[in-house]
Parts: sequence; C-alpha cells; structure tokens
Amino acid sequence: EPVSGWTGGGAVGEASGAAWTDRYSHAVMDTFGPPQRVLVRGEGAYVWDADGRRYLDLLAGIAVNALGHAHPTLTAAISAQLGTLGHVSNFFGTPAQIALAERLLAIASAPDGSRVFLTNSGTEAVEAAFKMARRNRGTETDGDAPRTRVLALEGGFHGRSMGALALTAKAAYREPFEPLPGGVEHLPFGDTAALDEAFSPAAVAARGGVAALVVEPVQGEAGVRPLPEGYLAHARRLTSRAGALLVLDEVQTGIGRTGSWFAFQQPEIGGGVVPDVVTVAKGLGGGFPVGAAIAFGERAATLLGRGQHGTTFGGNPIASAAALATLGVIERDGLLGSVRETGDLLRREIEAAGNPLVAAVRGRGLLLAVQLTRPVAAQVATAALDAGLIVNAVAPDAIRLAPPLILTADQARDAARFFASVTVPEEP
Ligand code: PMP
Repeated sequence: EPVSGWTGGGAVGEASGAAWTDRYSHAVMDTFGPPQRVLVRGEGAYVWDADGRRYLDLLAGIAVNALGHAHPTLTAAISAQLGTLGHVSNFFGTPAQIALAERLLAIASAPDGSRVFLTNSGTEAVEAAFKMARRNRGTETDGDAPRTRVLALEGGFHGRSMGALALTAKAAYREPFEPLPGGVEHLPFGDTAALDEAFSPAAVAARGGVAALVVEPVQGEAGVRPLPEGYLAHARRLTSRAGALLVLDEVQTGIGRTGSWFAFQQPEIGGGVVPDVVTVAKGLGGGFPVGAAIAFGERAATLLGRGQHGTTFGGNPIASAAALATLGVIERDGLLGSVRETGDLLRREIEAAGNPLVAAVRGRGLLLAVQLTRPVAAQVATAALDAGLIVNAVAPDAIRLAPPLILTADQARDAARFFASVTVPEEP
C-alpha cells in the first residue's frame, strides 16, 4: 500500500514528468536549476523518466553508480545489513565498518599504521583531510616555520562546505560565502615551477610553512584534466622534504573509475608515489552515500582520532555493507580491466567518427571528456537527452562521460554513435 503518496518511486506514469517538475520547483531547493527530467527507475546502465522514456546513463549520478542501477548484489547486501543491524553509534564498532576499513587499506596498499575515517560524502572526506592538515603544524623542534599554509590547484573542486570550499578554486562558488577558512593558496594547474616557488625558503619565510598540498590526480569538475606526468612525483619530493601532507582527492577518480582502484596507482599519473591521505566517496557505495579519508602510515593516521573528529553516520553499517558489496563486485567481475577496455573503445569510436564538432577525447578509463570545437556543450547535452542519453556539460565546450563501470561494449558503441552524428546549428 502506498504511504502518503509514496510508492517507492518505481511507478512510471504515476504522475507526468511535467507534474513532478512543478512539485519539485515548489518544494526542493535546487542545486543546478530545475531538473532536466524526473527519474523514477533504473536497471543496469539505463534509467527511466516519469513519462516512461529510457536513457543510457553515461553520467551515473556523476561518477557514482559504479555497478549501474538496482544491481542485485548491492541491493541484497544493503537489505541484509538493514535487516541485521542498521545503525549503531561510534561508541561501538561493527563487522561491516571494520571489514570496509580493512578492505580500503588493502586496495590502497597502505602501509602499516594506516587508518580510515569513514564519512557520508566526498565533502566530508575532504573536511577530514583538511583537519588533518591543520593538525600537521610542525613542532618547534622541526626548526621550521609553523605549517600554516594549505596548497591546492586552480581548477580544483573539493566540495562546497566551508572548509572544502576553501580548497575549491572556482570563484563563483567561493565569493558569495567569504570569508572562508584561511591559509589556502591556489597554484596554477600542473605547474611544477609554481610548486617549487610555494615550497621555497623565501615563500616559507614570508608566508609560513606548508601543512598540505591537496590535488585531484585527474581534475573532474574542471573538465577531466589529468595532472601532467611527473607532477605528483615532484609534489611528493617537495611535500616529504617540508613535512607537508600530500593529499590526493580521489572522490571522483577513485574506486575503479579510471581503470585502477585509485588513479594515483597508475604509473603515468602517480609515478609510484605513496600519498599521506586519499579521499574517496562517489563510486564507493555504488550509489549509497559513503566516503572515506584514508590516512597512510602512522604519522598521518595519528593526526585525527581519539575524539578529535567525528560524525554520527560515518561508518554506518548499511553504508559500509554497500561499499563492501561494490568493491566485491568490482573485483569478482574484473571491472578494473573492463573499465580500461570499454573506456578505450568509447574514446576510439568517438574520435574515429571524425565529427567536426568533436576535437578530441581525453581522460582515463571511464572518466572521459569529449572536447568540442565550439562552446555548445549545453546544446549537445540537451540533444543527448532527446536521443536517450544522459551526459554532462562539464564546461561550455566539453562533455563529461562517467558511465557505470559495468558499461558494455555495445552500450559504449551506442554512446559513440550519438557523438558521431550530433550536430548543433551555427548561430546565424
Ligand atoms: N572532491 C572531488 C574531486 C569531487 O569531484 C567532488 C564532487 N564532485 C567532491 C570532492 C565533493 O564530493 P560530494 O559531492 O560527495 O560531497
């Protein structure tokens, strides 16, 4: 029996898309304006809107639904955990939470002494990392200037709570909410000379020591921009020398999205570095809200803990079970390998089609951007919706693709066919 008009959301035709959109506009505080569609159901790589139209989901909740929609293993794991033990306070541990922390340390190849702080989102994982950076002050015996500065990169996106927003570079997100927590400096993207300057004795003498450098191995919101080869290795040398934390924000790139558990594990990106902190979320729970800040090694791991940071829901057993199931299916079904193959296929097929609107495809695995030759990404995204594909205009001239990791070769070809033929009329 429906409760208060709620049917579980699976009823196509219960109300029209237009009726739902009207209700949305009167009740929901929107993030990106009115909803493009109201979606009621998903299965595998497809979702259906309230009017019964089907879409190939090439965005996956912005790099979230790693296993696609309504995956039976994930559904069963969540349901089983909910029916066994749904929540306890952090005065207690649970097997799901413990097993998840162990599993994250294992896939990250984190050294002895490493620890995991579980969160509900990427933003919260970044906040935890920011707090670790603040605690990394340095001591008088270091003989160094106190570590008061946190470095991040232009184009970087790390969330929109006040701390995470201080790390996020985009002026339009920052300016309405200033003053933000201080001490953050944004350096030009991928510029090792700027990094050298920021760590130079002159900069430290004038502005203070560096507590942390926070970077995305592949910038997601900035349009899928991988850091240049060698950058992270250089950053590791400088941060290690200065006692600063190297924080990798893998909220978007982590958990298989780029074809390895973490993007930094790919030699061309990570250059073999061992980071101090890695943040993850998005794909981790396969759609269930869960994130983590992984602190590598004893030194990073002891910056928080013992009551210095906490959240009611972090480590929730249902969220942990969802994450364990997601990680389990990625491993069982060999999805890391198929992400690389399907991603390569998708990229090749789009580029080979030679549509004059498409300049190039960049990215890694199934985190790709189709660079357009004109700033018509919004029109292309609308045309995609009309053609039954969900994509994202990540920049005025770039389309982001972040499909479920289960995307098949045939589905990749369907996506490529759209990019082969899409046209946007020139302005008269
Ligand atoms: N960091 C990165 C790199 C992200 O891409 C995002 C989300 N786009 C965040 C942090 C924030 O994560 P969330 O939206 O889950 O809070």
